[in-house]
Order: sequence, then C-alpha cells, then structure tokens
Amino acid sequence: MKKHNFSAGPCILPQEVFKEASEAILNYNDSGLSIIEISHRSKDFVDVMEEARSLALELLGLEGKGYKALFLQGGASMQFLSVAYNLLQSKAGYINTGSWSDKAIKEAKLFGEVVEIASSKDANFNYIPKGYTIPKNLDYIHCTSNNTIFGTQIKDFPVSEAPLICDMSSDIFSRQLDFSKFSLIYAGAQKNMGPAGTTLVVIKEDILGKIERQIPSMLDYKVHISKGSMFNTPPVFAVYTSMLTLKWLKKFGGVEAIEERNEKKAKLIYSEVDLNPLFKGFAVKEDRSTMNATFTLINEDLKETFDAMCTEAGINGVNGHRSVGGYRASMYNAMTLESVATLVDVMSDLERKA
Ligand code: PMP
Repeated sequence: MKKHNFSAGPCILPQEVFKEASEAILNYNDSGLSIIEISHRSKDFVDVMEEARSLALELLGLEGKGYKALFLQGGASMQFLSVAYNLLQSKAGYINTGSWSDKAIKEAKLFGEVVEIASSKDANFNYIPKGYTIPKNLDYIHCTSNNTIFGTQIKDFPVSEAPLICDMSSDIFSRQLDFSKFSLIYAGAQKNMGPAGTTLVVIKEDILGKIERQIPSMLDYKVHISKGSMFNTPPVFAVYTSMLTLKWLKKFGGVEAIEERNEKKAKLIYSEVDLNPLFKGFAVKEDRSTMNATFTLINEDLKETFDAMCTEAGINGVNGHRSVGGYRASMYNAMTLESVATLVDVMSDLERKA
C-alpha cells in the first residue's frame, strides 16, 4: 500500500510522474533506450532540457522578462556560495530565518562583508522578523522563503533597491508571488519539483557581470547560461523527472490551482493543531508555513501511542527535526488533501482515546 508521505525530504512526487519516469528508465519514447542512456547532446534530451527550462519560467510568470532558468548540480547548498561568488563585491544583506539561512550566511562570508539585517535566532526561529531597517548600498539581499525545519514562511518580502535573492527550495511553485520582484531564485529540485540531483536557478540576466573577481566555470552563471544549462553532463534523470512534474503542475492548473489546494491542506492541519488540546503549534501563527507544519505533543507520554497510530494509518515521516523536536508534517505540492485528512483523523482519534 502506498504510504502517506509527510517526510520533509527528499521529495514527494505525483504517482503519475513516478509511473512515467519509471517507464522512461526502461524505454524512453519507444527508442529502445533508457532516458538515462541516451546522449545528453541528442535532440531527444536537449528537448527535455529546453522544455524543463521554459516550463519553469512559464509557471513562475517570468517568460519574456529577462530571466534565464538553469538546472544545475550541487544542491541548494552549492547556491549558497555560487550566489556570493557571482554577486558579492563588497557587502550583502541576509535575513536569518533558520539553519539554511545560517548556512548561506556562512558561505557568503568567504566572499565579502555580510550584514545580518534581521534574525529570529533569539526564539529558535519560530517567527519571521519584521520591521527591520535595510542598509543602503548592498550588492543584494538574501532571504529564505520557507524554513523547512522550523515551519515558518515569509509572507512579505523585503523591499529595497538592492537585488532580491531567494532560496525557495521548500516552497517553489507552491504559491503565487510576483516572482519578477526577485533577481535570483534558487531551489533544490527535491520537495516540489523532482528527485534530488538538480537545482533550479532562475536569474535575471542583467544582474550578472558586475563583479571583478574571476569565477571558476562551473560556478559561473554566465557560463551555464551561454551553454543552455549543458556546460557539462546534466543530471539527466533529475531534469527529466522535474520536467514531468512541471508538466503535471501545468495540467493541474499551475501555481494558482496548487496554491488553493496547499491552503486547504494547511488550514486542515493547523485547525486540528489549534483545536486539539493534546497538540501545540511551534511557529508563530501569522508566519506558519503552508509546506511544513511543525507541532508538538503537550504530553510526551502519548508519543508512543501517537507514533503507533500513525504507522497503523500508513503515515510516514512526521517526526520533527532534532532542532525543534515534536512533529513536522510536510505537505508539498504532490501531497493530496486526503493524506492530510488521514493525519488529522489520527490526531483527533488520539484525543478521543487519551
Ligand atoms: N535550503 C532549504 C530551504 C532547504 O530546505 C534545503 C534542504 N532541505 C537546502 C537549502 C539545502 O538543499 P540541498 O540539500 O539541495 O543542498
């Protein structure tokens, strides 16, 4: 029986994508070859790459607006340093909303001055800082839209004259935003877009070429753009499967339609967390993530029973991250409302039993 996958990662994808991807592993388009053995320079694969790149821009509403989409390797973690390598000349501003922002800050410090504009470290990152002042003359501002570990999500993004860079690894394509406000967006494919192994980078081309340092080719966005995201052998299976997921999302009705379903899922789980006296939410209400709901059991003695009930209901991966504890229900794009309802039923069953 297929389980309800609430795991924070690597990914959850629609069943039809798993099916099509597995068929392509055996015989891609009746070619007698697997998608992972055809030449990445063949028309068949170049078409896959081009479709993935153009679907990404289309779904974000960024077509014809001076942006390029790349499918790179090294994970979102590689982007922590690539961003600074390509864009940090003297000083950049970072909003610190969790472990991933912290890691991005650490890498950027290797390349220039980093100003931590705001941080929610004082409360173990259970909220999104607001009302901060943004210094002038920054090369860029970096933020993390969704904090996978802590279950918070930025609703209002910083506004300034500096280019806005965002790590959207755990909520890309999940909600409508004016994506043209961002100069660079990056996201590991895993979670909402595909298997681990590739990272989407969407860049407004005119922000590049402004720094003096020499950039190694593999980290140089300009090189990757000039080679159509095929500077070296791309992670063919991850790109292909991401393309299938983006096609699925388009058929679903795009970001607008998935946002509606994501909001319903979030409402369902948070209502239960708030109404059920056995549970307590971790993140401040107004900053709650629609992707990762974090909560704890008020009485830890019930943990064994609750965990057993989850297992019995086919619920997988609800344990919280060690830095928060408790539970984390990750509800990425491919998760259905029915799966969330199953978890909510288990939570209310626990209340009846306790
Ligand atoms: N940023 C965020 C918000 C994440 O959730 C993660 C991983 N889950 C990363 C960055 C790191 O991504 P990767 O493992 O692809 O380097």
